[in-house]
Amino acid sequence: MPLEVHLIDMRHVNDNYNFVLRDQATGKVAVVDPSELEGVQAFLTDKGWSLDAILCTHHHWDHTNGNREVQKIYDCPIVGNAADAARIPGITEQVHVGGTYALGESVAEILPLDGHTMGHIAYYFADSQALFCGDALFSMGCGRLFEGTPEDLAATMQRIRALPEDTKIYCAHEYTIANGRFARAMEPENAAVTAHIERAKAQRKAGQATIPSTLAEECQSNPFLRWDSPEIQSVLAMQGANPSAILGELRARKDAF
Ligand SMILES: [Zn+2]
Repeated sequence: MPLEVHLIDMRHVNDNYNFVLRDQATGKVAVVDPSELEGVQAFLTDKGWSLDAILCTHHHWDHTNGNREVQKIYDCPIVGNAADAARIPGITEQVHVGGTYALGESVAEILPLDGHTMGHIAYYFADSQALFCGDALFSMGCGRLFEGTPEDLAATMQRIRALPEDTKIYCAHEYTIANGRFARAMEPENAAVTAHIERAKAQRKAGQATIPSTLAEECQSNPFLRWDSPEIQSVLAMQGANPSAILGELRARKDAF
């Protein structure tokens, strides 16, 4: 049975989306990157659920601020990357890239997504077609390169692009429409970019999140997954350059956009 996934809009707290995951076979529940206790607790109480784990993608404050206060109430493990354990507040259970994490019968592969930070990971539940990727990838964009190199970014984007196309992308921020403006500047002739922007605008107008998108949509409209697009290479005047050079240039331009 696939995971049940719920989005909690925490943007009034710190601009983030939190995700609550429930393994349907066992009823075990986890929250990804809790912003604060209040919103998480309100959601769980409404559902009548307890909490079995806090899953951390990376150490940034806006993703870990709720760790300790949520743990204090629910007495559950705080799970994070062993390689980044020193920076994950309250971490009690270390996972390893290339390894797995099980929430009941739902098993996640721990994918390394270095770049935005070093030690950033994703929880990839293949059976549920669900990727919880923190700030590594956004819809039509990606997180800033605070710590990694363009080579790290390229490895991360290649890793994501190799996943199945029906993978749902659960990223932590609602930046889709703003990212779309940059995507259109990099690829003005790409009709999929325009379509994705229009879809996102309609969702926002209806009060809906644009998250999750699918990897298929992202591969058609996200410039950071399209380093081999002739149009992007032409706009950058970098025909035939390698992925890391193109992604480094795209990220630099986005930073200044
Ligand atoms: Zn971050």
